[in-house]
Amino acid sequence: MKFYSTNKKVAPLSFKEAVIHSLPSDRGLYFPEKIPTLESDFITNLGLYTFPEIGYKILSPFTQESIPNNKLKEIVEEAFSFDIPLKKVENAIYSLELFHGPTYAFKDIGARFLARCLAYFNESHNQEVTILVATSGDTGGAVASGFYDVDGVNVVILYPSGKVSELQEKQLTTLGKNITAVEIDGTFDDCQNMVKQAFLDTELNETLNLSSANSINIARWLPQSIYYFEAFKQLQNREKLVFSVPSGNYGNLSAGILAHRMGLPVKHFIAASNQNDVIPRFLTTEEYQPLKTIPTLSNAMDVSDPSNYPRLMELVDGKLSELQNIVKGFSIDDAQTLETIKSCFDQNSYITDPHGAIGYQALKDIMTADENGIFLETAHYCKFISTVEKALERTLSQPDFVSELMSKPKKSITMSGSFKEFKSFLFQ
Ligand SMILES: *Cc1c(COP(=O)(O)O)cnc(C)c1O
Repeated sequence: MKFYSTNKKVAPLSFKEAVIHSLPSDRGLYFPEKIPTLESDFITNLGLYTFPEIGYKILSPFTQESIPNNKLKEIVEEAFSFDIPLKKVENAIYSLELFHGPTYAFKDIGARFLARCLAYFNESHNQEVTILVATSGDTGGAVASGFYDVDGVNVVILYPSGKVSELQEKQLTTLGKNITAVEIDGTFDDCQNMVKQAFLDTELNETLNLSSANSINIARWLPQSIYYFEAFKQLQNREKLVFSVPSGNYGNLSAGILAHRMGLPVKHFIAASNQNDVIPRFLTTEEYQPLKTIPTLSNAMDVSDPSNYPRLMELVDGKLSELQNIVKGFSIDDAQTLETIKSCFDQNSYITDPHGAIGYQALKDIMTADENGIFLETAHYCKFISTVEKALERTLSQPDFVSELMSKPKKSITMSGSFKEFKSFLFQ
């Protein structure tokens, strides 16, 4: 299978090339030439497959020409080596807990798969690869952990200073070795733009072997469709299924639509957002109008111009009406998020993080009585402990992993949002 650019101005590439190039030079995003449909038998018999086996089944049509089957088996077993439990929260509402990986957020899934693909592609090269990644919170940690100590790979993580949680920052800044954290005086969109600019800079690309680990990379995006199947597998009542997806860059939600296009029976999705609500507004006003980023308690979704917007449109063949059929918008502010964390806990004894809480509340507000809803719980609440404690008006005990991480010293390089400064740093 080949991957084309959504702007269609450059030649399609193999999976391997698309992973290594990350971002097409015409500023589009790579997208599969064909979306395979799964046999209905596979969907009916999902219960017979483990999570890595589902991963293999979903990913092999995409990777076939670039990764031999036995190697892909090895990669999915290593990458998807933790549980994704579906927990019942209340009547007809379930939480898909995507936070049981090493950095306690769903981004481990894509980042671990990408890291292993790149390590495999790099086996036959002797050139060092530099991975650039912008993070609004969780990506950086997942990528850092996925690539930590991998030979021949250097990782540079850009994050907005003061706009990620303390625990997230520690996950980025305490590893050392081949991982460098760059703290930018700006927003996540600034960080994301600097990474994009680096990829479009000929001089940089001629000198360094650059690759991106953001969800714009096809190897991070594709595996995010797997857990929608995993959720379906664990669900008892599969009638009129609604997935509520806490969204920022829309990698997660667009991967859900990809799963749907591959044959997963879903009634519709919800784009659950904080005040950075460009997609919910787009669905109602029919105008795509990014505004200034607003910092919120659900910081991993503080994105004003989602990088996966082109993929979202490509999935519906550019038809807004089709997007409106399959996605409903939802947005709440910080005060409502805090109230939701509290009410969900009071009613169900279930603690949500500020992102998952928005997904949960979207189901409460939008779901009809005959529907079944799953919200994606995208991170462990401990990553946002001060927010959750504030919402619940009490202190919570921290798991050991938190205190251990918090005691490690932070190491970062501070920089303004200037691309020039960043570029000269990369050349050092
Ligand atoms: C990244 C992230 C999101 C947003 O996911 P997108 O794929 O960027 O829409 C939501 N919640 C958490 C905890 C995240 O880390």
